[in-house]
Amino acid sequence: MKKTELEALKEKLFYKKENVFDTRTKKDEKKISDYAKGYMSFLDNAKTEREAVVEGIKMLEKAGFVEYTLGGEIKAGGKYYLNNRGKSLFAFVAGTDNIENGIRICAAHVDSPRLDLKQHPMFENEGFAYLKTHYYGGIRKYQWVTIPLALHGVVTTADGSSVEVVIGEDDKDPVFCITDLLPHLAREQSQKPLGTAHAGESLNLLIGSQPLDGATEDKVKFNMLKILNDKYGICESDFVSAELTAVPAGKARDLGLDRSMIAAYGHDDRVCAYPSLTAIIENKDSKNTIMCILADKEEIGSEGVSGMKCRLIVDLIEEIAKNLGGNPNVVRANSMCLSADVSAGYDPMYPEVFEKRNSAIINCGVVMNKYTGGGGKSSTNDASAEYVGHIRRVFKEAGVVWQTAELGKIDVGGGGTVAMYIANQNINTVDLGVAVLSMHAPMEVISKNDLYEAHKALSAFCK
Ligand code: MN
Ligand code: MN
Repeated sequence: MKKTELEALKEKLFYKKENVFDTRTKKDEKKISDYAKGYMSFLDNAKTEREAVVEGIKMLEKAGFVEYTLGGEIKAGGKYYLNNRGKSLFAFVAGTDNIENGIRICAAHVDSPRLDLKQHPMFENEGFAYLKTHYYGGIRKYQWVTIPLALHGVVTTADGSSVEVVIGEDDKDPVFCITDLLPHLAREQSQKPLGTAHAGESLNLLIGSQPLDGATEDKVKFNMLKILNDKYGICESDFVSAELTAVPAGKARDLGLDRSMIAAYGHDDRVCAYPSLTAIIENKDSKNTIMCILADKEEIGSEGVSGMKCRLIVDLIEEIAKNLGGNPNVVRANSMCLSADVSAGYDPMYPEVFEKRNSAIINCGVVMNKYTGGGGKSSTNDASAEYVGHIRRVFKEAGVVWQTAELGKIDVGGGGTVAMYIANQNINTVDLGVAVLSMHAPMEVISKNDLYEAHKALSAFCK
């Protein structure tokens, strides 16, 4: 064979991973950077699932979406959102084509690992006041000590009214922290395995040290309760009906001299929630019904009324089908879903846990995980060849830069997403999302290129 023929044949036969930097234009650069700015401001305002739902609704209402409650009327061409108890959100555009063609669903989650307060959290010890926490989701405990933490959430008082709490995000606010040993006295602690050096019960938030004037007992705790009561009207007993959580304080930041990356708390999974929202909001062409789901509780197994295992998705599809004159079983059978969740980015500092050929490389576009789970493909929906083939054609047509990956080496660990719970409802589903470094850490890292490819991918899927 001639050299040129060989080259052409090689081009045809071999797979080559694309890097966004190799193909992006000056024009793309501007779009990527502008889109990242919008995402970063979403991140700053949406550190909990509740805040993400509020921000999501703001974006949707601005785009003409109206609130829908179960049992309400749905008209073809209408744009709706269902606010599920302030903790998860379903936005949908009712298509003008036959509803039995199915619904295109983008499903992300908006809860992130964090430190929830216990129900009886406050105590005083040797002149300090603390709040006890119970961590939520998979955290590496040692990462959460000695960093500034903010308190977010809601307290429902005895009279049934709710108070929103955010302390530690404004520059003028105080912050909180969990203390750690000084290296000089940590000889014994330093010998412990990383996972056991800090016990769950030791993750206590330091919140004050000044006693209440004139008090004789529990003086500092007394003062803390008074400060909270003055500001929010709450008492110690109100913690039992509260959802308060400590999250890393501060805003999302550009990372790197080139500003090519974003360092922030909660990329998992707002980095997919935001493009799922913008995909449905910006959509103009689709005649099909499209839906964006922002779920809660993914980090602890998708259980409960705001988790993806809840039958609300089936109920909602039934309502849509009924209103638009279709059989809900047929609608689900013909629906398609991208479970929009993050993947582990290949980290050259830790090559030992990755199998590079099947890893998500930062800047190489949005990542498809045909299957997640752990060794032996346990606990995953494992999308079919046909469905992956379909998505592949959609991406090709839209010029999306994408790659496939597994979470890491087969026997080193694993993880799941909401994909299998949606697939269990007889809906074709595959995982798609952005690669993250330091996933579940107080500060996670993503690339702006990959974020933008996720936006392109989810938008193309909705068309
Ligand atoms: Mn996730
Ligand atoms: Mn996660």
